[in-house]
Amino acid sequence: MTNLKNKLEKYLGSNRIKENFNLSPYLTLRTKTTAEYYFEADSRNDLVNAKKVSLKLKLPLLILGGGSNLAVINKKLNGLVVRNKYIHKKIEVNKNAVMLNVSSGYPITKLAKELAEYGYEGLEFHFGLPGTIGGALYMNSKWTKPTVYVGDNLVSAVLLDRDGSEKKVNRSYFNFAYDQSSLQKNKEMVLEANFKLKKSDPQKTRQHADFAMKYRKLTQPFGVFTSGCFFRNINDQSAGRLIDLAGLKNTRVGKFHVSDKHANFIIHDGSGDPNDLKKLLLLIKKKVKDKFGITLQEEVIVI
Ligand SMILES: Cc1cc2nc3c(=O)[nH]c(=O)nc-3n(C[C@H](O)[C@H](O)[C@H](O)COP(=O)(O)OP(=O)(O)OC[C@H]3O[C@@H](n4cnc5c(N)ncnc54)[C@H](O)[C@@H]3O)c2cc1C
Repeated sequence: MTNLKNKLEKYLGSNRIKENFNLSPYLTLRTKTTAEYYFEADSRNDLVNAKKVSLKLKLPLLILGGGSNLAVINKKLNGLVVRNKYIHKKIEVNKNAVMLNVSSGYPITKLAKELAEYGYEGLEFHFGLPGTIGGALYMNSKWTKPTVYVGDNLVSAVLLDRDGSEKKVNRSYFNFAYDQSSLQKNKEMVLEANFKLKKSDPQKTRQHADFAMKYRKLTQPFGVFTSGCFFRNINDQSAGRLIDLAGLKNTRVGKFHVSDKHANFIIHDGSGDPNDLKKLLLLIKKKVKDKFGITLQEEVIVI
């Protein structure tokens, strides 16, 4: 056992740190990579302690939610990878308002389904969105039919700042926009979030959730290794449509290819060489640039 592993376990608990750990099963794109040190956080304290020990030992820290917006190309991630499994929620209902306090590791699809069943309106269209509340706030993840963002009904959140101190911030702190939140710049960690939802008719909220899931199944490839839409839309132009019009559906490099169902989805057959993914991304960007003069930007975080 290495000295660093010993030190990490002293703070985070014995047998809780894995060394050179295979991360692939926790990434929806399933690229092959390992974490130098890996820890599963089951509580708010675990998240806080992981941050504190990473600062103390000067180790880089990556917080991993559902791993559904990441394309890890590096063969090894140095430092500590913390998978967020802090799952907790509390709901208070007053008159027509519903106050939801939810932990950052809560799976968003599970949450959307539960809220839709209760008839609490505000997050139900995100049924089918993979990942966690933390990852969804980081990206301000969206649904487009109608256009709604995860950050829309956020009231406040508890964050862990770069120094490991907790702070409560209001919605405005996040500077939410399309695919954007302030977390992307300041690298702060969400511990918990507070949403204000509307008390509504369960039939209506269930219908919204079911519609979103049906629409996903109709328009997106299912049951494959992918990280969803790879590129951002540009000024309301769909990146998928540009990729499609550039004739790139089904284009393949090694074990990575462009979906024939949705051209913004890259599918990994499994056990592919991440360099092939890099080549495919460059090819897509070049073809779209040559044809439309538009430079595509990744929505998925490539590391
Ligand atoms: C099949 C499929 C469908 C998808 N559909 C959609 C869609 O409809 N709309 C959409 O917007 N996206 C979609 N996505 C992309 C992705 O699911 C979302 O961006 C999702 O919100 C990412 O959450 P995550 O927990 O998986 O984040 P991860 O991929 O684990 O992490 C993404 C980033 O967030 C950071 N992060 C994670 N947790 C925290 C935290 N607690 N505090 C601070 N930072 C944190 C990570 O460090 C990382 O930088 C889809 C992906 C797939 C695979």
